[in-house]
This record gives sequence, C-alpha cells and structure tokens, in this order.
Amino acid sequence: MICLYVLDDAAGRAPGGAARWWLAQSLRALGAEIVRRGGTLTLRRGPAARVIADLARESGAAAVYWNGVAQAPHRAVEQQLEAALAKAGVASQGFPGDLLVPPAAVRNKEGRGLRVFTPFWRRVLALGDPSKPLPAPKALRRGPEIASDTLEEWKLEPVNPDWAGGLRDTWTPGEAAARACLRDFLKTVARGYVGDRDRPDRQGTSGLSPHLRFGEISPRQVFHAARFAAAEDPSLGPGIEKFLTELGWREFCRHLLHDHPDLAGENLQANFDGFPWRSDSKALAAWQRGETGYPIVDAGLRELWHTGVMHNRVRMVAASFLVKHLLIDWRHGERWFWDTLVDADAGSNPANWQWVAGCGADAAPYFRVFSPVLQGEKFDPDGAYVRRFVPELKRLPAKLIHRPWEATPIELASAGVELGKTYPGPIVDHARGRERALAAYAKIRKG
Ligand SMILES: Cc1cc2nc3c(=O)[nH]c(=O)nc-3n(C[C@H](O)[C@H](O)[C@H](O)COP(=O)(O)OP(=O)(O)OC[C@H]3O[C@@H](n4cnc5c(N)ncnc54)[C@H](O)[C@@H]3O)c2cc1C
Repeated sequence: MICLYVLDDAAGRAPGGAARWWLAQSLRALGAEIVRRGGTLTLRRGPAARVIADLARESGAAAVYWNGVAQAPHRAVEQQLEAALAKAGVASQGFPGDLLVPPAAVRNKEGRGLRVFTPFWRRVLALGDPSKPLPAPKALRRGPEIASDTLEEWKLEPVNPDWAGGLRDTWTPGEAAARACLRDFLKTVARGYVGDRDRPDRQGTSGLSPHLRFGEISPRQVFHAARFAAAEDPSLGPGIEKFLTELGWREFCRHLLHDHPDLAGENLQANFDGFPWRSDSKALAAWQRGETGYPIVDAGLRELWHTGVMHNRVRMVAASFLVKHLLIDWRHGERWFWDTLVDADAGSNPANWQWVAGCGADAAPYFRVFSPVLQGEKFDPDGAYVRRFVPELKRLPAKLIHRPWEATPIELASAGVELGKTYPGPIVDHARGRERALAAYAKIRKG
C-alpha cells in the first residue's frame, strides 16, 4: 500500500496562511501515525490527476482509492483521474467521507438544492442515520520505495517572520487530537452547550472546526459519537441535538458550495450586485487589526490573529460590523477570514459571510444590525473575553468595558486608558452607522 498526499495548487481555492500552517502540522501527524502502523506517507506536488496516474503506472498499482470531495474543482480532478486510470487498466474508487449525505440526495422538485436551512436539515435527518464509519486499519503493509517530497520543500509554514506562535500555543492538529477534542466535548462541554455556545468568555463549544476542515475527523464520526453519547446519557440530549444542528450548518454550507461553486465571489441574491459598498482601506485595515474602538469587535479580530479562530457569536458581530457599520463589501471580510482562520472553509466561510450581509441563501434579515455594545454586554457580561484579547482595557470595570467612551476622565485614568492613544475611540458612531446601513439596504430593495 502506498499512502499518498498530493498538494495540487490548482484544485480549488488556494489555502490561506493559517490553513497552510495547519496542513503542515496535520500531514506531519498523519505521517507519524502511518509510520506507527508500518507504512510511510508519500508527498507529491502537482496536478493531482496526472501525479496520481503517473505514480500508479510507476509503481504498478492494481487499484487507486481516495476520499471524494463533492465540489466542482475536486470532481473535475476525479473525473480526469478516473479516465487516466481506466486507460491504464487500473481500477479506482472514491469514498464519500466529507459529508453526511451527498448533495444529490437533498434536492427539490426542480432538482435544485434547498436554500433554507430548516427544511434542508429536516430532509437530511429524514434520510436516516448516515452509515457508520469503518475503523482505521491497525497495520499497514509497506509498499515499494517511492520518492517523496519533504514538507519543508513545500514551505507551508511561515518563516521570517514566524507568526505562527499563537497557533502553536492554541492547537494540536492531527487525528488523535481531533478524537480527544470530541471526547472532551461529549464528556463535559455538551451538557451546557445550549446556553454556553454563545458565550465567548466560556469554553462552550467543541473546537472541532479545523479538525473537520482538514478531514482529521469526519462528520459521520462526529454524528455517531454524539448520538451514542446522548443514548448513554439522555440528559445530554438537548445539547447534542443543538450540536448536531450546527454540524448540519456545515453540511448546508457545503451543499450550497456544490450548487454555487463561486460562493465566495458572487452574491446569491443578485439584487445585491448593485449594493453601494464603500471603498475605505483605512477602515478595513482598522477592522483587520482590531482597532475599531468597539471592544467586542476588536477582541474578536485579535483572537483571530492570535489563535486562528474567532468565537462564532463574535464572528457574527464582527462580520456584521464590517458590512453594516462600515459598509465594506463582505468579500473583503471573507478574504481576511480566509487567510487568517485555521478552519477557513470554502463552504462555511463565504456562506456565513453572505448570510450576515443579507445576500445569502437563507439570510438574516438585513435590518438586523447588531449593536456591538449590547452584544458584548449580553454575551461577555463581565468582559472576561475582552480583557483577554484587548489587555489595554483590562482594568476598566465591567459596566464600562464594552463602552469605554462613556467612562469619565477619572474612570479612564484609574484604568490606565487614554482614549485615542492607548485604545482608539469608536471608528463610527453606532446609531449613525446603523442608519447609513439601513439607507443603503433600502436602495437595493427599491432597485
Ligand atoms: C462570518 C462567519 C464566517 C465563518 N467561517 C467559517 C469557516 O471558514 N469555517 C468553519 O468551519 N466555520 C465557519 N463559521 C462558522 C462557525 O463560526 C464555526 O464553525 C465555529 O465557530 C467553530 O467552532 P466550534 O468547532 O467550536 O463549533 P461548535 O459550536 O462546536 O460546532 C460544531 C461544528 O459545527 C459546524 N458549525 C458550527 N456553526 C456553523 C456555522 N454557522 N456554519 C457552518 N458550520 C458550522 C462546525 O464544523 C463546527 O466545528 C463562520 C461563521 C461566521 C459568522
């Protein structure tokens, strides 16, 4: 058996910096696991269909197997590969490991994918439990000696500057860590998931997203382990059902991407094509650096830069702030997330950005303009999350931490804060930003 990973720069969207870092760690962990079982992991770079077909010929392989991804660029590679292998008389087979159900199984009467989440998820669940995944082989027989690239040659990790320190401190990529993460979640966090999942100041969610993104754990493994945990302990039921619904959102986003390969480029609702976005590179840079003057937004963007993820609730608030308060095209925010998230996903990232902007398939109503202050006070009531990622505000009392501009000069001085110097004032006034956003949205509604 030859275990092969091909880095194909032309298949799909090129991964951003944080995802490249994760990929390197993930391949290292996979390689070590394969060696432990008696095999080796071969690395090759180039157009996957050609590289795999050449290797099959070179090694005299009888058959080639892979894990399929039901997306246009990957399907194109598979089709080329199937044709090349058939010509060479080599058997081949792909296995679905990326989704709970194939997109073809969830279609409306016209044969199109569903665009609203709730009926989509109902349909997925009505199809019955997805098949149980098989265990990994315990031992592998070593194949012939095959030349392999080295990970270092691929230069996936940053050097000069090495900005990945925060990622290393936060994450352990790889299959064993993914399984441990799921186990911990089901043992402890799942019980409080319904209430805690919206709290960035708590460890209230699973942290599985980058592991799922890189196939270190599959949605079917997660599904079955979660259902099993709920059957063993029925008091976990509500938390597990909610958690599985979130896994359903991942599925929904990937089905959307299957139907709309240009999800990151094209508004799903065409009336947004004429939206009066503002071009403001200074405001975009302030948002990217976490210097908007709104503590919950800034904490989120700094969490992202430091750890490679941002809490889901804060992603919604920070994304809404960019597209509504700053009126900057969602595609700029999507690209920033794409480059900085370790879980950057070609389905979930643009689908969620479109959802927040209001141009998505199952979009939040455009008139919902989050107040960053109220969101902060509701979901980070003591300010612990802000204190962690915006340390220059950490001595402000809880009642002021989400609205430092309302503090008196004495309160600011005793917390060591100089607005405009140690921490910026608000980049835009909330009420004005909200009105401007509503006026812009009203224009396209008329149009
Ligand atoms: C603007 C924006 C951009 C986003 N970009 C991404 C992205 O690139 N990649 C990504 O995996 N998620 C993305 N999300 C969804 C969500 O924020 C993350 O999946 C979640 O924060 C991951 O943390 P967790 O694994 O602890 O989640 P949990 O709460 O433990 O959820 C379990 C799993 O469900 C899936 N999930 C949860 N929420 C969503 C959702 N809204 N959409 C799709 N899947 C979901 C994830 O696979 C997650 O690992 C985005 C959300 C927003 C608002």
